[in-house]
Amino acid sequence: MLKHNLGYPRIGIQRELKKACEAYWSNKINSEELFQVGKKIRKENWKIQEMANLDLIPCNDFSFYDHVLDMSFLLGSIPDSYLSVPIENNIDLYFSMARGFQENGLDIKAMEMTKWFNTNYHYIVPEFNKNQKFYIFSKKIFEELEELKKILKSVKKIKPVLIGPVSYLFLGKEKDKYFHRMDLIENIVPVYIEIIKNLKNKGVDWIQLDEPILVLDMSEKEKQAFTYAYKKISKSEKNILLTSYFDGILENISLLRDIPIKSLHIDLVEDSKQLERVLNFVKESKIILSLGIINGRNIWKNNYTHSVNKIEKTIESIGYDRVMIAPNCSLLHVPINIEYERFIHEDIKNIMSFAQQKIYELNDLECIIKGNTDILLNNFSLLEKSSKSSIFHDKKIKEKIKKIKNEDIQRENTFNIRQIKQKEKFNLPLFPTTTIGSFPQTKEIRSLRNKFRKKELNKEEYDQKIQCLIVDVIKKQEEIDLDVLVHGEFERSDMVEYFSDKLNGILSTENGWVQSYGSRCVKPPVIYGDVSRTGDMTIDWICFAQKKTKKLVKGMLTGPVTILQWSFVREDQPIYHTSYQIAWSIREEVLSLEKYGIQIIQIDEPALREGLPLKKKNWKHYLNWAIQSFRLSSSGVKDETQIHTHMCYSEFNDIIEHIADLDADVITMETSRSKMELLKAFSVFSYPNEIGPGVYDIHSPRIPTVEEIFDLIEKASKKLPIQNIWVNPDCGLKTRKWEEVLKSLKNMTEAAKIARMKLSNRPS
Ligand code: GLN
Ligand code: ZN
Repeated sequence: MLKHNLGYPRIGIQRELKKACEAYWSNKINSEELFQVGKKIRKENWKIQEMANLDLIPCNDFSFYDHVLDMSFLLGSIPDSYLSVPIENNIDLYFSMARGFQENGLDIKAMEMTKWFNTNYHYIVPEFNKNQKFYIFSKKIFEELEELKKILKSVKKIKPVLIGPVSYLFLGKEKDKYFHRMDLIENIVPVYIEIIKNLKNKGVDWIQLDEPILVLDMSEKEKQAFTYAYKKISKSEKNILLTSYFDGILENISLLRDIPIKSLHIDLVEDSKQLERVLNFVKESKIILSLGIINGRNIWKNNYTHSVNKIEKTIESIGYDRVMIAPNCSLLHVPINIEYERFIHEDIKNIMSFAQQKIYELNDLECIIKGNTDILLNNFSLLEKSSKSSIFHDKKIKEKIKKIKNEDIQRENTFNIRQIKQKEKFNLPLFPTTTIGSFPQTKEIRSLRNKFRKKELNKEEYDQKIQCLIVDVIKKQEEIDLDVLVHGEFERSDMVEYFSDKLNGILSTENGWVQSYGSRCVKPPVIYGDVSRTGDMTIDWICFAQKKTKKLVKGMLTGPVTILQWSFVREDQPIYHTSYQIAWSIREEVLSLEKYGIQIIQIDEPALREGLPLKKKNWKHYLNWAIQSFRLSSSGVKDETQIHTHMCYSEFNDIIEHIADLDADVITMETSRSKMELLKAFSVFSYPNEIGPGVYDIHSPRIPTVEEIFDLIEKASKKLPIQNIWVNPDCGLKTRKWEEVLKSLKNMTEAAKIARMKLSNRPS
């Protein structure tokens, strides 16, 4: 039985990679210094894994920005536009693809970025043309292999990691029309074969090819590409470890029928039920089965009893020598070392496990299999004890959740009735204008919050400063003549952290950083216990803002699904229980806002879509509890209180009916980048409630003209009843500069006024 790992976090325990990259980008260090930092991180990572006694250690899992971009670089898949970037070193070309290049009169955009499957990691989307040729361009993988050889005594322990050809093509997108990227499989496979040959010539035994596409609903074309690729690859090389992760592979396992790979890795964390059938499948072959049993996406200690069961079952079926154990996926998605956490309650910390600890868990499991029952018993009693610790449980909130009734997830009256009451009460003009919530977060504001956190500012001083900012933002919004105002969110560094810091049952780590993209890292909160509200969370700020204006101020909250989605979540109860608990807290906050006279309340759910399961067959269950959670948080208010929600993406077409099920009175969403692409969805399904399709793209510093905003409003008015249309930007404005924001919003309110004159007679 071999112990191995699919990939280790590469940011460095002190986020050295982030610091080095940013220093390099601002010319504070040179490329040599940057490379040294990379080398040091790799060495530390490899040493840790060697000390933990892994039998196979991944190589090429390090990246200066993103491992998908590394693949593009390895395969010479570099869009022409970047070839004009003046470079001293290839790393400059690499970074220009990731970040764009704006110097020397050149203005080259960065390549597109998107989410890596259903994780919060973002990768750089490969671009393909019809006649794309591939060739070995970057030497990184070979250099890192040489580096690792020097560290390990045995080259046989090294396992280079590559994204497999089918998943790589799948993750990219076509830049030309009239071809399908899977058609490039014939061009790309020979290059993979060449890479693998080169690696083998350097003495390695194993090659890991990641094919997470195997867990998706694959199209016929993808299946054909897969069969083609692996027939070819396995003909020239047998020692392939093919990995699947993030879900089960049963739907596609038959693709492996005539392909003589050495080993198959399956994810038993996301789908433990697949084991039985996978065992049946591999039984008659010689395939080694790699069991992904340690959760690489969450931070809890492994339950050894469960894991040992799976390992023993596998040994029984195919024999000890044909078993491997590993985390289910790369450890990229978890923080590095729990020992650096100084302030987590011992009972909680005892059951937490970060990347380094997870590697050692493999060792423990091996010891148990070899007969050491003490380790098993210790793990059992630790988990048993903690399941009873009062820190994780709050009877009161558990009871409340049990008693949720149908009325709790339903507004008193239907939207049509509410709309009439709300229109009468608010008396807003047609095409009412608003923003999504945040206004520019300047350096001063960030330093203000930091000082308060470090106790260099006391609460009064801090409150006063935030109040000044609110007074100012209210004044500015009145000058722009927006209809529904916001308080600006200056007190929030992050829309999830702000709430998780205030709720019972959720903790923030000190150093639990995880890479989000490139040099950007996030520190997800840990939902460890039953969640409840300690008291008002936003009332002071919102009410203060409301007092400063006669116009309506919108209360601003983060929704339960988003809080859940961007946190590490406990696993001792179904996820929807936790979701309902958070929803209940948000509901209490909503009701408190209402009680204090706030008449419009927005509950943001930007993460609702990204929580969708990878396989369509699992969507229904997810959407069901996610929608219930939102409704639980929003449905306690009177008819006259208007609930808004916001989502910042436009690929809605497949879930638009579910979005309607949220029954928010108003939804604001992204559309401008896609020039109202979203509206296509409305040709098939008429969205019943009010909606603000974003009229300008906040991701760019460009100031939209009055005319183009008007055009978009007009477009929308052809598809939607005009009394349902709101006018707003695509998303929050916190990353923009004030001068851009003022001009853009002014143009937006101007365009709305023109729309009121020109479009108000249109029959709807
Ligand atoms: N209200 C938040 C803001 O304006 C919404 C952010 C988001 O959609 N991600 O910043
Ligand atoms: Zn948004």
